[in-house]
Order: sequence, then C-alpha cells, then structure tokens
Amino acid sequence: MANQNVSFFAQVNRNFDRAAAFTSHPQGLLDIIKACNSIYHFTFPLEKDDGSIEVIHAWRAEHSHHKLPTKGGIRYSLDVNEDEVMALAALMTYKCAVVDVPFGGAKGGIRIDGKAYSKDELERITRRYTFELVKKNFIGAGIDVPAPDFGTGAREMAWIVDTFTALAPDKLDGAACVTGKPIAQGGIRGRAEATGRGVAIVTCEACNVEEDMKAIGLTQGLAGKRIIVQGLGNVGHNAAKFLVEQGAILVGVVEYEGAIYNPDGLDFQQLWAHRLETKSLLDFPGATNLANRALGLEQECDILVPAALENQITDENAPRIKAKMIVEGANGPVNSAASEMLDQRGVLIIPDHYANAGGVLVSYFEWLKNLSHVRFGRLEKRFEEQAFRRILKTVERNTDRAFTEQELSDASQGAEEEDLVNSGLEDTMVTAYHRLRGIRNKHKIDLRTAAFIDAIDKIALCYQDLGIFP
Ligand code: NAD
Repeated sequence: MANQNVSFFAQVNRNFDRAAAFTSHPQGLLDIIKACNSIYHFTFPLEKDDGSIEVIHAWRAEHSHHKLPTKGGIRYSLDVNEDEVMALAALMTYKCAVVDVPFGGAKGGIRIDGKAYSKDELERITRRYTFELVKKNFIGAGIDVPAPDFGTGAREMAWIVDTFTALAPDKLDGAACVTGKPIAQGGIRGRAEATGRGVAIVTCEACNVEEDMKAIGLTQGLAGKRIIVQGLGNVGHNAAKFLVEQGAILVGVVEYEGAIYNPDGLDFQQLWAHRLETKSLLDFPGATNLANRALGLEQECDILVPAALENQITDENAPRIKAKMIVEGANGPVNSAASEMLDQRGVLIIPDHYANAGGVLVSYFEWLKNLSHVRFGRLEKRFEEQAFRRILKTVERNTDRAFTEQELSDASQGAEEEDLVNSGLEDTMVTAYHRLRGIRNKHKIDLRTAAFIDAIDKIALCYQDLGIFP
C-alpha cells in the first residue's frame, strides 16, 4: 500500500485504473486516454541583473488532444520536473471532462524559485518561455492555452499575451492564447477568485447533503464547521475567505513559514492584515505557533483544505489526520495510498479534479469572451432591467401593491459580467457534485473514483464518436 516513492503521474494513473475497472471500455481506448500525447522540455539562457548567465529548465505537456485547445496552468517552482508536469496535465484532462469544459489537458512549468528573481528577471524568463512555446507551436487560442498556477498570476499572463500577440500572425484572437489575464488585457471578472470560490461552493454543497454529513459524523450545513487551510495563495486565500463568509470557523492555517492554530477560531481578515504587515502568519495574537508546518495538518478540525502543493498528505501522516472531510484545493495533495487509507477510515475526500475545477471553468468563460470580443452581459443587461421593470409594473397594476423606487431597482438588476461568471461557476460545480454522488452511490465507491469514471466515460465518448473505437 505504501507509495511515497511512486511518481505523481503513476499515482494519477493508479487512480485512473481503479476507476477504469468499473467501466467496460476496451483496453486500447483506456490506454489512449491515459497516455500523455506530447511533452516539450527545453532550456534557455537567462541574463541575470548582475550580468551572470543561468540556464533555465522549462516544460509544457499536452496530455490529451481529444479536444482542442489543450488547457492548463504554468507553475514556477523548484520542484517542477517532467513527471510532475505530465501528472498535472493529465489531471487537467480529467478536470475539464468532469466540469464539461471542451478542452484537453495541459500543464507547463519552469524550474525556478519565483521569489529568488527580480521582477525584470521574471519578465525575461516569462517572455522567453512564451517565445519558445510559439516556436514549437505549443501555444495559441486553438492549440494550447496556459493560465496561472503555483507561483504565477495575472502579471505573468499579461507578459505572455503581450509576447504572443507581438509574434503571432493571427492578431485577432491573440488574447485567447492565455487566460487569467488582467481585465485590461482581456481578462474576465471573477477569474482571480474562481478556484477558491469553487472550492467553497463544493464544500458548502457537500455540507448541505444531510446523508453525506451523517455518514462522516457531522451535522448538515457549513455554518460552525471548523476548517484548516494549507497555503494562503490564490486558491487557499480565496477558499478561506469565502468559507468564512459562509459561516465556517477558521481554526488553523499552514503556510511556508509555519503553522498556527486556535480551536476558538481565527479572524481571517485580521490574520491576513497581520501576514501582510509582518510577512508571516506566526505570532498572530490569540493563536498558538505550532512546532512545524506539518503539524498544522494534523490538528482537530472538521474540514481540511490543502491548497498549496501535491503530496502533502501521504501514507506516513494520513493516520494522524483528524479531519472528517478533505477538500483538495491543490492538485494531488493526498497521494493515492493515503487516499485509500482515509477512505477506509470513512473520511470524505472531495477530489482535486473536481474541487479545484472552478479555475479552468472560468478560464473557459474568459476564452469565450476573448473569441467573441464582447463582455458578458453587455448586450442584455439594460434589456433585462427594462423587462423586469415591465413585469413589476404589471404586478403593480393588477394588485394594490405599489413598489418603492428602491424595491424596483433592487428587483430589476440586470446581470453584470461577474454575476454571470459566478452563476455559471456555481451551477456547474453544484450540478457536478450531485452527478458524482450518483456515480459514487451506484458503485459504492469513493468520490475520487467516481470523478474518474465520469471523466473516462465522457472522453471515451469522444473517441467513439470519431469512429476510432466501437
Ligand atoms: P500560489 O502560488 O498562489 O499559492 C501557493 C501558496 O502555498 C503560497 O502562499 C505559498 O507560500 C504556499 N506554500 C508553498 N509551499 C508550502 C508548504 N510547504 N506548506 C504550506 N504552504 C506552502 O498558488 P495557487 O495558484 O494558489 O496554487 C495552489 C495549488 O492549487 C497548486 O496545487 C495548483 O496547481 C492548484 N490550482 C491552482 C489553480 C489556480 O487557478 N491558481 C487552479 C487549480 C488548481
């Protein structure tokens, strides 16, 4: 069972194989779904600010071309390697399928510690990386569309789109070559928060299902549930913020510099301000500094949200995890052996390729916006407002109720871009949860295996429609 040394890609494939056993697809079809279609490893020189030269290693993996473009983030981390990039690209394939985003999976990575470089150096690295992708046809609106991931954000995406459009022959759809861009560069409102918001939506939805909560010894509803979050970056910060807004109690936080815990709850806004001011979580008034960050995952709580990196909960520390529910904000935070152990103990794990799919879903909306060259809601907002007002006036005429101007204006709001994005996000995540529960209950399996079955069946259908397999 122990698998600390099994590669990340092998672990993803192990989860795939477990799910595939519940399907009746031919082995050849399963093999083609599982294989990583293309992987590009390249090196390039960086001239550092002090004039020295460093060799930078970078990758882009396109796991599945069953739908184009392929899609997946770009990560800046010292842990980046070929296996990790392939595993993350594979997870993207299955993630897109689970939330019905019509893309294949991809992932990119540059082996650097982003914090060790100046802004100018990071810009040179990012622009050169993009140039290399253009040279090899690994980027483009209909080819492969990167996005932010660990260590990257809107700033890096702005450099990518600027470099791509300077080089690309097709300027018209250039903005759709990457997502997670700043709004002024063709980004979409709601993308920055989308992954964390999605994590909060699925957590809340799971907590609302009384039967599922009863099975793990919890009461229905998110309010009052004690949560621990690992990683306060893009995903973890937003997940914590939205979960607390909906009534969860943040009792612990784990970051690079250490971990803190307070069973009575931490004020998230004050904690965030404290970290901005002191550059550390530690020594937050009222909280205990734990001896090391690993201990942060093992404290008493109802829900654990690992939102930093892969392989954080392994067969080594799984027996000490006390959470009854784990929501995988990060990709691959629970290794496959730990996942089996926790499942046997009755812990509810909401798997990464569903739980953190809000990011790619809203990236899909951004890509659609870039191709249509119009902001969502621009055409219909005023029309909707007038239509709602006409309905309310009809109600007034046919009853003795007269609405105040405030009531009229509140009830007749047309949707802004962000409202539409958040509505699409919530609808997709909630609908998918109930579909995955259905698969899980039918086969009496865990939610991760159910999500793999869902993805495999959808991808298999694509190949069958092409007439490649019976
Ligand atoms: P990020 O770089 O914004 O944040 C990562 C955070 O984790 C940072 O605050 C960092 O200090 C912290 N961290 C690093 N090592 C740590 C450790 N050992 N213990 C505790 N904290 C540590 O990255 P992100 O975009 O939030 O991505 C986090 C995870 O979520 C990754 O696995 C990524 O693949 C996944 N993910 C991200 C997105 C997205 O839209 N950004 C979408 C889906 C999945």
